[in-house]
Amino acid sequence: MKSEKMIAYGEALQTVEEENPVPQGTEVLVRISHCGVCHSDVHVHEGYFALAGDQKLDVTGNRELPFTMGHEIQGEVAALGPDATGITVGEKCLIFPWIGCGKCGACERGYENHCEDTRNIGLNIAGGFSDYVIVPHARYLLDPAGIPDGLAATYMCSGLTAYSAVKNVGKTGKGDPVLILGLGGVGLIGLQVAKALLDGPVYAVDLDNRKLAAATEMGADGVFNSGDGDVHKAIFKATGGIYSVVDFVGSEAMAKLALRVIRRGGKYVLVGLFGGGFSMPTAMFPLRAISVIGSLTGTLEEAKEVLELARGGKIAPIPIEERPMDQASQSLQDLRDGAIVGRVVLTP
Ligand SMILES: [Zn+2]
Ligand SMILES: [Zn+2]
Repeated sequence: MKSEKMIAYGEALQTVEEENPVPQGTEVLVRISHCGVCHSDVHVHEGYFALAGDQKLDVTGNRELPFTMGHEIQGEVAALGPDATGITVGEKCLIFPWIGCGKCGACERGYENHCEDTRNIGLNIAGGFSDYVIVPHARYLLDPAGIPDGLAATYMCSGLTAYSAVKNVGKTGKGDPVLILGLGGVGLIGLQVAKALLDGPVYAVDLDNRKLAAATEMGADGVFNSGDGDVHKAIFKATGGIYSVVDFVGSEAMAKLALRVIRRGGKYVLVGLFGGGFSMPTAMFPLRAISVIGSLTGTLEEAKEVLELARGGKIAPIPIEERPMDQASQSLQDLRDGAIVGRVVLTP
């Protein structure tokens, strides 16, 4: 197998050739056809996430170098371990990468994405910047039928993240307005998921009028430019207050806006990783009965649900740019520089 590996944090990936791994036990060997390049790959490559101020969260733990990143993987089954069942060699598949220990409470509840001892593919165990990858169990292989190749791979991270964030809003009534903050790739998917799943009107905020126009085209019931000084007043006037804000930015300014417009009993779902902080008097949480919910990727069940939604034509495809696998390093750099529209998907 031939992989693009991280040898040292922050340095260019290197091509490494080695023997194909042989699947053991329930493991499945997948021949990779596509692997998306995600913003979190950039953070993993740098070795940290920016937090508030100049604080950084170290993300170099639970991973050995050299390491193969890549967690938006599509391919076909190449070989089965002796105990692998439920799938046959040659079947096309997507790989659910958010794998837990399988033993803790979170895993037991089906929230492997909340496990404290993750075996995430492409983050803790070898991932998709390669032509082959080992998957621990066939239950993590999902059916990509009905979705264009390459695009389907991106639903394992960006699509799933958007879907799960909106699921965290829970049940809504017709009079429960929901506000999407930030209309990058993930936010635009979130908007469409909200329109598909929720009963109340869906509003959107961004700094870029072109993105706001795109949101209107995708069915937003109203849009607001966050550059307008009194945007919270405009939101209040149009909506009477928001039941749930889903924040795909996660900046200080967006948090401030969210906590200003949320109604009593409302929810603030935080999914964006821009970085920053907020403070609120503790008594305001009970007095306004506000919940703040952090949303991290999604569950295996939600991954199946978002694929179903995409198959049903409820999510407009994001632009995909295919590049050869040996451009993995360059693609990380381009993503860091903001030089990519849509998603780069690498092909071995
Ligand atoms: Zn990702
Ligand atoms: Zn676990």
